[in-house]
Amino acid sequence: MIKIERLTKNYGSNCAVDDISFEIQKGETVGFLGPNGAGKSTTMNILTGYLSASAGRVAIDGIDVLADPIGAKKLIGYLPEQPPVYLDMTVDEYLKFNYELKGCTLEREPHLAEICEVVKISHVRKRLIRNLSKGYRQRVGVAQALIGNPPVIIFDEPTVGLDPKQIIEIRSLIRSLGKDHTVLLSTHILQEVQAVCDRIIIINKGKIVADEKTENITRVVEGNRRFNVKICGPQREVLDTIKSLPGVSYAELLAQKDGDACTYMVESEFGVDVRKKLFYTVAEHDWAMIGLESLGMSLEDIFITVVNKTEEDKSDAESGKRNKSSAPKRTRRTRNTLENDLADTLVKDAEQKRAEAAEVSDEDM
Ligand code: ADP
Ligand code: MG
Repeated sequence: MIKIERLTKNYGSNCAVDDISFEIQKGETVGFLGPNGAGKSTTMNILTGYLSASAGRVAIDGIDVLADPIGAKKLIGYLPEQPPVYLDMTVDEYLKFNYELKGCTLEREPHLAEICEVVKISHVRKRLIRNLSKGYRQRVGVAQALIGNPPVIIFDEPTVGLDPKQIIEIRSLIRSLGKDHTVLLSTHILQEVQAVCDRIIIINKGKIVADEKTENITRVVEGNRRFNVKICGPQREVLDTIKSLPGVSYAELLAQKDGDACTYMVESEFGVDVRKKLFYTVAEHDWAMIGLESLGMSLEDIFITVVNKTEEDKSDAESGKRNKSSAPKRTRRTRNTLENDLADTLVKDAEQKRAEAAEVSDEDM
C-alpha cells in the first residue's frame, strides 16, 4: 500500500533521509520510531507530497506521489506534527473547509457527523478552534485527516503534548482505525508502539536501523531468557554451578539478600529454558531454591541499544584507524547483553534489507 524505494532527502549538505526503503502492506499498522531529528517528519512529509525528495520513489497504492500528487493525496489522511488548524474558524467551518479542499464526494453532513462522533468532538463543533484545549485541537486535526475516508492514515507524533487520559483516547482511536486502514504512526512513546503497532521501524540519522514485526520483538522481550533466582547455599559454589549449566550464557550474584538466600541473575541462550535444570541441580547439591522471578527486557533498552549501536558503528567508521587510543571497546553493561543481542540482530537485518533494496534497484537500471 505504501512503497518507499531508496528515498533520500538533503537539506543543503545535511542528509535528513539517507537511502531508505520499506513497504507497508494493506491493513498494517506501523510504528515509526526514532530520536529527534532522525528524519521521521521529513519522510512523512515526502510520503504525503508536502515535500519533494532529493532521490528515490514513493508510491501509495501504486500511484507515484511525484507523478500524480493529487491522486496519491486522495488516498491519504495526514496529521502533521503541527496540525494545520485555523484558530479563527469554528470546528465546523474548519471541517467543511477541508471537505471542499479535498474535493470529497461523500455526502457532507452525515460524513462529517460520523467523523465527529468517532473522534468525540460532536459537542464542540460550534466552538472556535482557538478556544479548544490542546487535546481537542489534536482531535480536530485527526478529524481533518479522516475526511474522505482515505485508506492510508499517516500520523506524526499524534500524542505529543496530550495528558495521559487523552493519550489513551487517541491510542484507542488509532487502534480502531488500524482495523480497516493502513496506518503509519511516528512516536516517541514505546508503549504506544507496543499497544497499537503490528510492526516497528526504527530510524536514526536518516537511516533505517531496525524493521521488525512487533510480535517478534515482544516474544523475545517477554521470553524466559533472564530471571532472578534465590538460592540458599555457598555463594561462590552456587554461582559457579549456575554458570556451568548448559544453556546459561551469563550469571551474576546480586546484592539483594533474603534471609540466608542470595539472589542471582541468570541469562540463558536463545531458545533455551534452563529453569528446570537449574531447579534439579540445586536440589542435588542439597541447596534450596526459594524464589524464581522472570525478568523481561525493556523495549526502551532495546530502542536505546539499537540507536547507540548505530551511532557507535558510525563513529567507529569515521574515526577509522587514525585514533587508536579511543579504540578499546566500551565495556558492556552486563544487564544489557540480551538487549545487545537483539539489537545486533535487528541492525543486521536492516542492513541486509538495505543491501537487497540497492541490489534490486541496480538490476532495474
Ligand atoms: P524527526 O521528525 O525525526 O524529529 P526531521 O525529519 O524533522 O526529524 O528532521 C531530520 C533532520 O533534517 C534534522 O537534522 C533536521 O534538523 C533537518 N531538517 C528538518 N527540516 C529541515 C528544513 N526545513 N531545513 C533544513 N533542515 C531541516
Ligand atoms: Mg518530527
